[in-house]
Amino acid sequence: MLFGKVPAILAGLSVFVPLAIAQAPPAAPFVVHQLKSNVYWIEGGGGNCGVIVGDRGVIVIDAKTTAAGGKELLDDIAKITPKPVTTVIETHSDGDHINGLAAFPQGITIIAHENDKKEQEAVIAAGRGALIADHLPTVVVSKNEDTLKIDGVTLQVFHWAPAHTSGDLVVYLPAEKIVFTGDIISPQQPDPIIHPEKNGSSEGWITTTRGMVALDAPDFVPGHGDVQTKAAIQKGLADAEAKYAKIKDLVAQGKSLDEIRVAVGDPPARGRVVTFTEAVYRELTKKG
Ligand SMILES: [Zn+2]
Repeated sequence: MLFGKVPAILAGLSVFVPLAIAQAPPAAPFVVHQLKSNVYWIEGGGGNCGVIVGDRGVIVIDAKTTAAGGKELLDDIAKITPKPVTTVIETHSDGDHINGLAAFPQGITIIAHENDKKEQEAVIAAGRGALIADHLPTVVVSKNEDTLKIDGVTLQVFHWAPAHTSGDLVVYLPAEKIVFTGDIISPQQPDPIIHPEKNGSSEGWITTTRGMVALDAPDFVPGHGDVQTKAAIQKGLADAEAKYAKIKDLVAQGKSLDEIRVAVGDPPARGRVVTFTEAVYRELTKKG
C-alpha cells in the first residue's frame, strides 16, 4: 500500500499549512440532501434547514446564520424548484437558525412557538436584532401539539416542554415519517445543549426526546450534523437519562458542582454555553 509514503507527504504538507490558514478560504457551499421526492435538508452555514416542496410553494424549516447564508439557501431552493418560498417554520430562536431570514421576501408566513417569538422580541429590545426585526414570526404556536396543513403538506409541530430553549418546536412529517429536531439533537456534541438563559431545561429535554422517539419515524434531521437513526436518538436519550440520574444522586449527597463535574467526566464548557451537567445541577439545586 501507500503507507510508506505518507510521512513524506505529511512532512511536505506541514510546510504549506500555515500559509493555507493565513488566507481565508472561501466558505464551502451548502450541501443539498434529498430525503423524499419532495423533502430535502440543506447543510452548511449554521443550522441544518429543511425544505418541503408543496403544491404551489415551498415550506422551509430554519434559515441559516446570516443574510448571505439566507440568500444561498434561497438560491439552492431555486435549483430544486421554481415554486416560491411561502412559509418558514422556526425550530427555535438561536441566530444560526433564523438570522438568514433577513434575505427572505417580506410577506411570507413565519411560524414559531410563542416563546421563540418572545425571545426574539427581547433580542430586538436589547438592540441586537437587526437581522430579524423585519421577519418576526407571523403565526405563533402556543399548544403543545398542532397539525398544520400547508399547501397540500401535512405537518405536525410539537412542544412537549422547554428543552434546548423555552421556544422549541419539533416538526414532524407524518406521511414522509421524518422529524426535524432543531438543536434538541446536536450529534456533534457529547451531551444535549441546554440554554438556561433562554429557559431551556434538561428535564424538559428528556421529556421532549422521549416524545420524539415515540413518533413513527426512522429518520431525524438534527439541528447540526448528519441525519440520525431512531436508535441513535434512543442511545443519546439513554445516556442523558443516566447522566441526569447520576447528577441527581450526587446533588442529593450534597456534592458541589465542581465535584460533580469531575465525577461524571464533564467536558469543558464551550464559551458561554453551559455543559449539560451544569444545566442539570442548576435546575436541581434551584428546585431543592
Ligand atoms: Zn440552537
